[in-house]
Amino acid sequence: MKFIIDHSMQLIHRTPYAGDLCNFQETPLLQREGSHDESYINKLIKEKKYERCDYCK
Ligand SMILES: [Zn+2]
Repeated sequence: MKFIIDHSMQLIHRTPYAGDLCNFQETPLLQREGSHDESYINKLIKEKKYERCDYCK
């Protein structure tokens, strides 16, 4: 599974399900990060209060 991390909105998207409703297109490219690392994702959620996007979780 590949994820898109939106650091400006502090949201985690799942790439295969991400769409227009996710709205990360408005986030500058520099604030977005792609990752395959589930433990990194979980760490962001637990320690930095990032949330999984409702539209693609
Ligand atoms: Zn999303």
